[in-house]
Amino acid sequence: MMSSPQGKPRACVIGWPVAHSRSPLIHRFWLESLNIAGSYELAAVTPADFPDFVGHLQGHGFVGANVTLPHKQTAFALCDVKLPAAERLKAVNTLWIEAGKLCGDNTDCAGFLGALDQDAPAWDSAPGTAVVLGAGGSARAIVYALLLRKMTRILLFNRSRDHAAKLASDFGAPVEVVDFGDLRDAMAGARLLVNTTSLGMRGQPPLTIDLTPLPPHAVVSDIVYVPLETPLVKAAKTRGLRAVPGIGMLLHQAAPGFERWFGKRPHVTAELRGLVEADIAADE
Ligand code: NDP
Repeated sequence: MMSSPQGKPRACVIGWPVAHSRSPLIHRFWLESLNIAGSYELAAVTPADFPDFVGHLQGHGFVGANVTLPHKQTAFALCDVKLPAAERLKAVNTLWIEAGKLCGDNTDCAGFLGALDQDAPAWDSAPGTAVVLGAGGSARAIVYALLLRKMTRILLFNRSRDHAAKLASDFGAPVEVVDFGDLRDAMAGARLLVNTTSLGMRGQPPLTIDLTPLPPHAVVSDIVYVPLETPLVKAAKTRGLRAVPGIGMLLHQAAPGFERWFGKRPHVTAELRGLVEADIAADE
C-alpha cells in the first residue's frame, strides 16, 4: 500500500462540482469494512486549478484520486503513465503516484463488465452481437469493454449519426453505425442491448423502445442509475429478460482505484449495494 506523507493513506474524488458524488459513500464503506485506517474525501477543484492540484497530489497528502466531470480529459493529458483503457478512451478517472510519476486509468470499462458479470453471469459465453444506444463519453468505454469481450458485431445507434460515426471510426471493425429504421432487425439478432444515452435518467425523457424483437436469451443493460429502476430495466424484466441496472457499473468502477490506493481488493456486496441504493432512492 502506498502511504501519504502523513502515513495514513488518503484519497479523494476531484470534480467541479463534486458534492453530489457517491464515491465517498462507496470508498468509506470499504475502508470501514476492511478495517483500513485511511480516508476518502471530496475535492472541489475548478478547471483552472486542476493541473496544479493534480501536479501536487502527493504534496496535498493524497496517494491517489478519482476524477470526475469536467476533468477526465485534462487528467489524461497530465498523466505520465496511462493504462491501455485510458489510452484508448483519452480520459482518466483514476489517478495514483508510482515512482514519482502520475499514473492514470479509466475504470469505466471494468465497471461495466463487472456489473454484467455479477448481474448476468455468462452473458458473453458465446460470441454475438451487441446493440449500443448512444455515442457519448460512456458509450466509448462500453464499446471498448465489448471489444475486450470479443463481441463479433457492435451496432451503434445514436441521435446524432456523426457522433456515432466518429466513435465507430476510432475503433474500426466490428463497430458499425446503424440507422434507427434498422433497430428492430438489429435487436432480433442481439445477445446484449445497452443504453448509454441519458434518456430515462431523472429529468430526461424516457427511452421508449419496444423490446419485443430481442431473443429470450438477450440481456438488457441500462447504465443510467437515477432512478434505480429505469423504464428500460422495468420493460426488460416485464419481458422476462435478464436486466442489469446502472448501479452495478457505478459500484464496480470504484474497485480498481481502491485496491491501488489502499492495497486490498474490495468487493461489491449486497450490503454496499443496499447502502448506495438507499442514497440514490432518497434523491429520486
Ligand atoms: P454524454 O453527454 O457524453 O452522452 C449522452 C448521449 O445521450 C449521447 O449519445 C446523446 O446523443 C444521447 N442523448 C442525450 N439526450 C438525448 C435525447 N433527448 N434523445 C436521444 N439521445 C439523446 O453522456 P455520458 O455518456 O457521459 O452519460 C450518459 C448516461 O450514462 C448518463 O445518464 C450518466 O449518468 C450515465 N452514466 C452512468 C455511469 C455508471 O457508472 N452507471 C457512468 C457514466 C455515465 P447525441 O450524440 O445525439 O447528443
